[in-house]
Amino acid sequence: MDKTDGAADPANRLGLDYQDVPRWRTSAPLVDVHTHLYDPPHAALFFEAATRYGVETVFTMSPLEQVAGLRAEYADRLRFIAVPRWKDMQLDGTFRDQWLRDLAAFRERGARLCKFWMAPPMRERFGLTLDHAFMEPVIEEALQMGYAFMVHAGDPSVWWSPQGKYADVSKFGTKADQYPPLERFLDRVAPRVVIAAHMGGWIESPEFLAGLLARHANLVLDTSATKWIVREVARRPEAVRAFMIAHADRVLFGSDLVAREPYEHFDHYASRYWCQRTMWERDYRGESPIEDPDADDPPQLAGLHLPDDVLRAVYSGNIARLDLL
Ligand SMILES: [Zn+2]
Repeated sequence: MDKTDGAADPANRLGLDYQDVPRWRTSAPLVDVHTHLYDPPHAALFFEAATRYGVETVFTMSPLEQVAGLRAEYADRLRFIAVPRWKDMQLDGTFRDQWLRDLAAFRERGARLCKFWMAPPMRERFGLTLDHAFMEPVIEEALQMGYAFMVHAGDPSVWWSPQGKYADVSKFGTKADQYPPLERFLDRVAPRVVIAAHMGGWIESPEFLAGLLARHANLVLDTSATKWIVREVARRPEAVRAFMIAHADRVLFGSDLVAREPYEHFDHYASRYWCQRTMWERDYRGESPIEDPDADDPPQLAGLHLPDDVLRAVYSGNIARLDLL
């Protein structure tokens, strides 16, 4: 695929050849528990990169109407995560009834996880949090259907800075305000498994995450949101490395790759896997190949060189042990 002439590719600021894959430390196939695949042409581009970077099985939050087409093409490699029709979101019975019907339809198609996206804009727009009464029938139905959960709880701490998009805490709450509803939800659905996306939303504080994991045995984290995780790991590599080793059985590999326009190049998809695997496996220290306005300039990437048993657990062992594959 062509790049725009003259413009630096935001996925490849170092001019790497992403087809030239580094020699990885593990040969076992990886499971990516967090993607968003849409139409088949973009999914094909995504899978080209996934295959090249050793990712065999992929969990996707695809719209219900895309499931049949994706499954026809990639049946064995795909697992679906049930999502509602977010763009129609309203706090009313019509939206919720459709959500419940979609949960049932995804379940019939084999989904074992459902996603609750509870980022601060939900609080701003609808006053909605995980422990809001509106959610209770959805949670109850999902439990009855046998679902485990994926939850988006937090966003980058820098977004709460005075220049950040959540600076107005009267609308969005503080970052700490995002967590009591999550903790009540974890208690509500225990022992059902809950995956808190993007390292639980608080990679900036491995200390906070360790407490969260200690308080909730049904909680696991995913490594998705590559730019965010890369820049914060680079700021505190030793702290995150110690956290990953201490909680090796509680972290799942994920990318948060979104396969649709405007992502038309192999390099975009490959860059996320290159960074994730380099960060966890290698002893690389240097610049990140991905542009990131929230990072130091230039953006940094720190390889943690995790032990082999930790890599195996995070890459595929944990999701298999949780019986969600
Ligand atoms: Zn996502």
